[in-house]
Amino acid sequence: LKKGLSCNVDLKGVLWDEIGGLENVKTEIHQAIEWPLLHPESLRRMDLAATKGVLLYGPPGCCKTTLVRAAATSSHVTFLSLSGAQVYSPYVGESERIISEAFQKARALSPSILFFDEIDSLVGKRSSGGGQSRVQERILATMLNEMDGIGTRLDQKTDVSRGQGKMKEHLSASAKEDGDQGQPSTIGSTNQYQACERNRLSDIDMSRVIVIGATNRPDMLDAAILRPGRLDRHIYVPPPDIEGRKSILNIQVSKMAARDIDIDCISNLTECFSGADIKNLCREAGLTAVRESSASGKLNADTLVVRQHHFVTALNTVKPSLSQNVLKQY
Ligand code: ATP
Repeated sequence: LKKGLSCNVDLKGVLWDEIGGLENVKTEIHQAIEWPLLHPESLRRMDLAATKGVLLYGPPGCCKTTLVRAAATSSHVTFLSLSGAQVYSPYVGESERIISEAFQKARALSPSILFFDEIDSLVGKRSSGGGQSRVQERILATMLNEMDGIGTRLDQKTDVSRGQGKMKEHLSASAKEDGDQGQPSTIGSTNQYQACERNRLSDIDMSRVIVIGATNRPDMLDAAILRPGRLDRHIYVPPPDIEGRKSILNIQVSKMAARDIDIDCISNLTECFSGADIKNLCREAGLTAVRESSASGKLNADTLVVRQHHFVTALNTVKPSLSQNVLKQY
């Protein structure tokens, strides 16, 4: 998509099964993202406020983006994503327009997830002067304004026109059901009923947008974006522990022609590896197997397999991108 036109409607799906480990995080995401999008009325019945914004934070390469995609895939909602590079523009007012347009689109296509990757590059802490920081301030102001509007901007013409279309469909369906059931209805009570129903449906439609930000640098975010009603649900996505690494390795190795791989041994040797590093390691082991067969002149797709020693060789080149020092920040 061309920069400055719009944000992406992302169609690449991810299944929960493709994500290794992170069981607690998955549960938190089900509750914070899927429940409000899929079961707003159940939450309302229990007088529970629906989440409007979630911040996923943690070290790089540990699955933040992939988790959001999985939540969008499993809940079958629209997934819109926007990165800093798509937002920044040298033209005055253009960045704010892109942000506003993304929110409009998210509302029009709700239920939806609007995802800001590396959100610290968009709404970092306000600093002293500089052209970049002035743009950042305007982006922050626009985001705060838009987030405060989710669930309440029923009177605005721009973004709700589609929602109102949906509302009308709901209303005519409800009115028809009324008629079918042969319930007596005076004009007054029908109007009252319709007014209540309109409020109820519009509130549901409009609140079914969840804004999610992901960052490796939560300390760099402006405090205003983290306040209640904004990105107020904070979920830490940790690096994979030994069980997580086993799980990621099992997922990756199951996609390869592999024999006699000692998953426990490799998991032990990959402390401080992110999920992305483990994927890299598997890729490198696969390449090592191909290289070896090719060098011996026996490259054959039917017999080629990756084995434990290919992983051991790959471990000489693929190193962990994390360290205890990096992890201390979280
Ligand atoms: P960054 O902060 O650098 O943007 P991230 O935390 O958003 O990274 P992703 O982009 O989701 O990480 O993951 C990077 C790659 O590593 C993806 O290909 C993803 O599938 C893989 N990956 C990371 N963690 C896991 C995991 N737990 N299970 C399966 N794949 C994983």
